[in-house]
Amino acid sequence: MTRRSMMAANWKMNKTVREAQDYVAALIPHATDASNVDMAVFTPLTCLGEVARMTEDSPVLAGAQNFYFEDSGAFTGEVSIPMLQDIGVKTVLVGHSERREVFGEDDAMVARKTKRAIEAGLLPVVCVGETKEERDGGGMWDKVSGQVNAVLEGLDVGGDAIVFAYEPIWAIGTGDTASPEDAQDAIGQIRKLLRESRDDAFADAVRILYGGSVKPGNVAEIMSQEDVDGGLVGGAALEVDSFVELIQAAEDSAPDEE
Ligand code: PEP
Repeated sequence: MTRRSMMAANWKMNKTVREAQDYVAALIPHATDASNVDMAVFTPLTCLGEVARMTEDSPVLAGAQNFYFEDSGAFTGEVSIPMLQDIGVKTVLVGHSERREVFGEDDAMVARKTKRAIEAGLLPVVCVGETKEERDGGGMWDKVSGQVNAVLEGLDVGGDAIVFAYEPIWAIGTGDTASPEDAQDAIGQIRKLLRESRDDAFADAVRILYGGSVKPGNVAEIMSQEDVDGGLVGGAALEVDSFVELIQAAEDSAPDEE
């Protein structure tokens, strides 16, 4: 089965509205040419409405980096899925390691958020990955499989309703990329888990991205791995020219669609 490639930018806590406008204006003409790749830009909330407005008629999906699973109420500082949909958001990051590690989001929270996003018709990109200590201590698969299983529990959807991103924490923002073989090994194991816990159709439809110091110089080799369907990119996606190069690499590695 052919899965569409996906290249996603995570701006984290960067960019003013003006900077976001310049970036998106430069991105859209290139994005329009990339017909074999799905593209998403996960922005801070302050510029998300503007990015959603600018990308509305383009192939670029406007994405939120965070939200809460309740729709409204006494949750100071949070935004809900209906609020995001109201401004045209199409996709959401769930369980980024910075949310898990810095803000204490646990597997139960990540699972509830994922279900809420899917229920509302938004595409969740669910991040999983281990720390350096967990990897060195042989606990990588316990951690990653636990994170994936927590999300799958009670989730009754087709594989195209969810995207996973394998992001080893030791490779995020460090310049220390997992080797293409390590990325394939982990992502291949995740797909095997999806196959065993669901079925072939589900496992073959779910897209699994790699994230962790992806850049123009290493993206082609990472994208060439059998089970890697794309990238979730922080630092190297902050400059639009660099993100365009990553999109182009994903486009070049994508099988042509009939
Ligand atoms: C990320 O923010 O998800 C990420 C992978 O960051 P970087 O590309 O900078 O490692």
